[in-house]
Amino acid sequence: MSKSRLIKLRKELERHGHLYYVLDQPEISDFEYDKLLQELIDLEDKFPDMADPNSPTQKVGGIVLDEFKRVKHESEMYSLNNAFSFEDLKAFDQRIKRSLTNYQYEVEYKIDGLAMSLLYEDGQFVQAVTRGDGVFGEDVSNNIKTVKSLPLKIDYPHKLELRGEVIINKDDFEKINKLRAANEEVLFANARNAAAGSVRQLDSKIAAKRNLDGFFYTVVDPEIHGISSQQEALGFLKKLGFKVESHGKIFDDIEDVYKYIEELELKRSQLNYDIDGVVIKVNDLAAQNILGFTSKFPRWAIAYKFAAQEVTSVIEDIFITVGRTGKITPNAKLTPVLIDGSTVSFAQLHNEDMIKEKDIRINDHVIVRKAGDIIPEVVKVLFDKRDGSQKSYVFPNNCPVCDQEIVRLENEAHHFCINVDCPARLIETMAHFASRDAMDIKGLGEQTIKTLYNENILSSLEDIYRLKTKEAQVLSLQGFKEKSFSNLIMAIEASKDNDLSKFINGLGIRLVGSRASQILSEHYDNIDALSFAKVEELQLISDIGSITAQSIVDFFKNPKNIEMINNLKDLGVNPQAVKTEVLEEGYFANKTVVVTGSFENYDRKALTSKLETFGAKVTGSVSGKTDIVVYGENAGSKYTKAIKLNVEVMNEEEFIKEVENYEKNN
Ligand code: NAD
Repeated sequence: MSKSRLIKLRKELERHGHLYYVLDQPEISDFEYDKLLQELIDLEDKFPDMADPNSPTQKVGGIVLDEFKRVKHESEMYSLNNAFSFEDLKAFDQRIKRSLTNYQYEVEYKIDGLAMSLLYEDGQFVQAVTRGDGVFGEDVSNNIKTVKSLPLKIDYPHKLELRGEVIINKDDFEKINKLRAANEEVLFANARNAAAGSVRQLDSKIAAKRNLDGFFYTVVDPEIHGISSQQEALGFLKKLGFKVESHGKIFDDIEDVYKYIEELELKRSQLNYDIDGVVIKVNDLAAQNILGFTSKFPRWAIAYKFAAQEVTSVIEDIFITVGRTGKITPNAKLTPVLIDGSTVSFAQLHNEDMIKEKDIRINDHVIVRKAGDIIPEVVKVLFDKRDGSQKSYVFPNNCPVCDQEIVRLENEAHHFCINVDCPARLIETMAHFASRDAMDIKGLGEQTIKTLYNENILSSLEDIYRLKTKEAQVLSLQGFKEKSFSNLIMAIEASKDNDLSKFINGLGIRLVGSRASQILSEHYDNIDALSFAKVEELQLISDIGSITAQSIVDFFKNPKNIEMINNLKDLGVNPQAVKTEVLEEGYFANKTVVVTGSFENYDRKALTSKLETFGAKVTGSVSGKTDIVVYGENAGSKYTKAIKLNVEVMNEEEFIKEVENYEKNN
């Protein structure tokens, strides 16, 4: 049971890591992520036979995006081990004591930004690289040059590498999200994700508009620069004109460190930048060298993570929202409270069971947690504050929008409105169809769709493509001008020729998001071909599981959906799969290949697509059906299994040779 939990946790953490590091759109708070990670660490300790070098507990999280130049860090960028209590800090101190007798701690705020390495040569800024997976990062120099507080010239005519965090200050973050709300764009979950999203923009003009800022705290190879402690390193950086956080302080003893941490926690809300804890470092660099590193973090430092901030508020009302799939979500309207610098007025209550379990009533005083700045949640009710004015919430039997009966299926935590014509569902369906990852129709956000729906102008996906015939009606509405209308029509027309993957995503098939849509569009030329696919056939596609396959088939079984697709085609929507040419001959053609480990010249995604263009089928796990395993550094159990099963293994050099061979002969 625990072993299956361990495997499930790895999968779950990998998914959240992808959402966080690649998409900059986390679904859960850092607090929850860290809790799951800690559970996995404990289970891995309990079951050493389940060790895996690719586990999220063993890797520095980030991933290098293909769009940027990959740069290898001259010295690895590590993560930090976590502490959540004084007990954890004492255990850390005990570990240090085993190697050192005389030492001091330097304590500083842990800045919640995007880790960055900067290179200067002869006093000039040369390069900025993200932490990435710790070994390779992305060259984001052009975007980092837009950080106004960063000196591009320094009075130090030597090679210097330094590290720190790029951030967006809280006040700028609020402005960015306000603007995004006005433009009906998806809001950033928090300032850290906004900073990460801005730094990884291909267009540095966008990054420039985001007012990036940064704090720096590490000098690489400090001895070369005559530095002998962390405290000196901070002074050195400050003198050269880099922004250094001002709360760094030295202590002899871990109890005093803890007292200072408590002080720093109280001060955090006064800061204009997000911090997620405190870092405690052995100050003396020679002592640091004695302690060294594990594969993931330094043994001479630890991050003390602050718990999510909790405040009290009052539940003024409970109301329901209906999602695209008909999912019913209860929400609490709160008396507005300030949590860590931003105002919170709503909290998600998830489902009926949660309201019952926590016994949440209207007019209750509650503790609210803004969990890692994502959606605030109600932690608990303060029962001793009940004064008789509280009213139990009666979960509705009917959809608050279309008044049809709502259902709760067996084993489902949520209620659903199953009326496909429910206005709330229609509006959400259209908003999803027009969103950036789907048909990407600029100017057609949820608010606009709501307005046009209420005026009877839009009530289906097909109506979007009929909008051009309703110019007079639209222009008579407040807020619509000729220019914006013609821009909107242009965006709608342009979407007709979108790539098939965007269209599939736009249809909102349950369990089919943008990645699955991409995969499906690689296997089917057009929507008709996909609509005829059988469950057995879909299941053969790697990464499409049986439940997703069934959901796809169910979607196309519904005559209403087929009619809608045919109508869209009649209106000129003609999405086609954009395919890369796949080779039928050559070493990899028609072979089943598994890729494992990290590579010097490719990231995994690039290597996988290269293999696919060479006609290989790339799968995730090694079995008797595998023909070749291409392995890089730190290849773990997949490599061992390949050897055991006598499967051909190929390292990066051999792979490149094969590629060159092929390219020479063709
Ligand atoms: P981490 O952010 O917990 O700590 C390590 C990093 O802290 C270092 O690499 C460094 O960049 C940074 N840092 C900031 N101030 C520092 C200072 N003064 N001195 C030294 N280093 C400093 O570790 P991580 O490996 O980046 O962990 C991932 C983080 O991302 C965690 O906070 C985790 O909760 C979060 N995360 C969240 C999700 C999610 O879904 N919410 C998913 C993945 C990761």
